[in-house]
Amino acid sequence: MREWQSWIRKLGSQSVHNGTSSTSRRIQAVGSTRSGERHPGFSEAMISLRGITKAYKTDAGPFWALKGIDLQIYRGEFVAVVGKSGSGKSTLINMFTGIDHPTEGEVIVAQRHIRELSEGQMAEWRGRQMGIVFQFFQLLPTLTIAENVMLPMDLCEVYEPGERYDRAVHLLEQVGMADYAQKFPTAVSGGHQQRAAIARALANDPPIVVADEPTGNLDSKTADAVFGLFESLVAGGKTILMVTHDDELASLVPRSLTLADGLIVDEVVRLSAVAAPPLLRWVPDLVDPSYPAYAVP
Ligand code: ADP
Ligand code: MG
Repeated sequence: MREWQSWIRKLGSQSVHNGTSSTSRRIQAVGSTRSGERHPGFSEAMISLRGITKAYKTDAGPFWALKGIDLQIYRGEFVAVVGKSGSGKSTLINMFTGIDHPTEGEVIVAQRHIRELSEGQMAEWRGRQMGIVFQFFQLLPTLTIAENVMLPMDLCEVYEPGERYDRAVHLLEQVGMADYAQKFPTAVSGGHQQRAAIARALANDPPIVVADEPTGNLDSKTADAVFGLFESLVAGGKTILMVTHDDELASLVPRSLTLADGLIVDEVVRLSAVAAPPLLRWVPDLVDPSYPAYAVP
């Protein structure tokens, strides 16, 4: 056993409660993840949320959907967010995609303070930086599935007009939807719409993919295929944040966060044998290094 492996093993069942919040952070020593050989550097924060709160106006006064979120997601990470319905998962996604603004706090994505972007800049910036799979798909009903997938390409002009259709079909193939390219969203099932939404999210080959319950409407075989696609995207260097109700799916993701009542209440990092060395650089940021169990031998 290599030195770092024994160190990770020592971390095994420990959990850390940091002094400032009730977040419980655990490091789990697990075997190789399904993603296999993967060496994200984890040196560069891709998404930083600092002191994020969000209050919605309601007749009964403000409703605090997020109560203070501090979160760093590094380039090349695959992170799952779990939590009961109403815990604030979609609200959290809306914060760093710039779809909605926090009441307090700062959002930095790919080194940009997103509050500095005008609405117009935001749309193009988002289109290039992020592929978003919305919980309720948000496909345009008047466009075919292929046209829906081409839409982000038309908005951002990353790909030449002549290559957009072929790229759309290629992406639809990856989610098993090539046969549905010419159909309209209303003519296909929820699961098929979800797959089309995943293809659309990949349209501009964005470095960040954000998916809100991307497997919520899929049978387990298709869900596995989508998860495998996400793993291959992470292996190719993308940063993925996936909201899911599915604890089993979350347990396959290297890092998962649990939201409850607008706070991150639990965080689990599963160190695969392969991913461990680069993660070690990152762990001190995650746990309290003065905690005896975390002393590097
Ligand atoms: P999740 O995605 O975890 O199910 P959401 O982020 O959608 O949770 O919602 C978190 C909480 O904020 C819920 O209690 C929800 O009812 C409330 N909420 C969400 N959007 C609004 C809104 N626009 N106005 C008022 N309350 C909202
Ligand atoms: Mg939601």
